[in-house]
Amino acid sequence: MATTYDAIIVGTGQAGPSLAARLAGAGMKTAIVERKRFGGTCVNNGCIPTKTLVASARAAHIARRGGEYGVRIDGAIAVDMKKIKERKDAVVRSSNEGVEKWLKGTENLTVYEGHARFQDAHQLRVGNELLEADKIFINVGGRASTPPLRGLDQVSYLNNSTMMDVDFLPEHLIVVGGSYVGLEFAQMYRRFGGEVTIVEMGPRLIQSEDEDVSEAIRTILENEGIKIRLSAECIALEKRGDKVAVGVDCTSGDKIVVGSHVLLAVGRVPNTADLGLENAGIAMDQRGYIQVDDQLRTNVPGIYALGDCNGRGAFTHTSYNDYEIVAANLLDGDQRRVSDRITAYNLYIDPPLGRAGMTETEARKSGRKALIAKRPMTRVGRAVEKAETEGFMKVLVDAGTKEILGASLLGIECDEVIHSILDVMYAKAPYTVIQRAMHIHPTVSELIPTMLGELKPLE
Ligand SMILES: Cc1cc2nc3c(=O)[nH]c(=O)nc-3n(C[C@H](O)[C@H](O)[C@H](O)COP(=O)(O)OP(=O)(O)OC[C@H]3O[C@@H](n4cnc5c(N)ncnc54)[C@H](O)[C@@H]3O)c2cc1C
Repeated sequence: MATTYDAIIVGTGQAGPSLAARLAGAGMKTAIVERKRFGGTCVNNGCIPTKTLVASARAAHIARRGGEYGVRIDGAIAVDMKKIKERKDAVVRSSNEGVEKWLKGTENLTVYEGHARFQDAHQLRVGNELLEADKIFINVGGRASTPPLRGLDQVSYLNNSTMMDVDFLPEHLIVVGGSYVGLEFAQMYRRFGGEVTIVEMGPRLIQSEDEDVSEAIRTILENEGIKIRLSAECIALEKRGDKVAVGVDCTSGDKIVVGSHVLLAVGRVPNTADLGLENAGIAMDQRGYIQVDDQLRTNVPGIYALGDCNGRGAFTHTSYNDYEIVAANLLDGDQRRVSDRITAYNLYIDPPLGRAGMTETEARKSGRKALIAKRPMTRVGRAVEKAETEGFMKVLVDAGTKEILGASLLGIECDEVIHSILDVMYAKAPYTVIQRAMHIHPTVSELIPTMLGELKPLE
């Protein structure tokens, strides 16, 4: 006999818990299922722990640079990896337990702990329990992908989840993958004091960004002593005693890098293979992402997919925005859509990269007439005062409508500054609104109006 609910949510990632609470609050008899840890990737092995570790790494970095600020530290700067992990664990625990307590304490909401699998379009099996509902919301997220690299089965390797258990300093960490996840780990472990090499198959780091952004990030990382091997087209791994040799097959330099540990950071895959989607007839694309329309409905009536598993976003904020879209449509009569949102994310190396809308490459490809302004952080007073002048800010504007097309802000505080651009983009206001705004001195943001006063045609 199945237990009947009005709504069932699978997964407690960044959309599920809020949606469950909203539906239950609206009087719907609701169930939510979690097979591992409450809060999903972001809370347990994604954003929250990594940004906590990035903060520890920054503290070590600034301490080492103390002399530049006239601060003398007598003795060497020591990094206590056990303490760093304990601090990270405490922050994660508080968030993870908070989600669990919230869900278990919500009226009208039943929490199931176990793996959910579709039996048919409206029934899910969770262990010995059979649950059914007309409305089912899939929020199963994703996990690190493990590509078929030569020799991978011969060596032990780490991914973003197993990195969370590391409470020691790898002597030499080889990070395979020079994109968002890999770069954050690479810089933090270098700052903790280890040797770090990034091995990237492509010709440059984070290839979805503009070339000047990739190049500036490479300089930032190399200046901290991180070794970077690009165009490593034929990566192969081999055990060398207690070490790992990574064949990087680069056009120049050593053909092999020998390290103590390897971190695989080469992309993510959705958790959809073991969900029984075929039993429900739910359509996926070739990479296993659940296909959804602009309001996150799958091809099966009553079934929705939210968060990373639908391939429409890969961030906590896109998953949470998915929840807002579904709740608005179902409960508020407000027809919000995925296509209303503007691309926005940060890369949390230090200094961070804040991104909104189009890159310069995309603006060029679009064929429209555009304006561009770029300012190095060496010409930002706040950065000079803080002695953190790496990076640059770049903004693109549509020459006709005067609306901002996008921005890449790589520099201190740019993870926050990007929002002033983003909000004007959402307002669909001309760039002159920010250009004429009086911003506060001394801040990084105060240079956004100045920069917008220096726009030139994009040649
Ligand atoms: C190292 C790292 C750093 C990141 N940093 C950032 C960042 O700074 N900012 C940012 O915005 N994003 C960041 N992300 C991405 C972010 O973590 C994800 O985009 C976000 O967590 C996606 O949330 P979600 O709602 O799709 O699902 P998830 O958070 O992945 O949660 C899905 C949940 O579903 C559960 N589940 C799966 N299958 C089943 C099943 N069959 N039955 C029951 N339960 C199931 C899982 O156990 C999991 O708890 C980072 C990711 C990584 C890996």
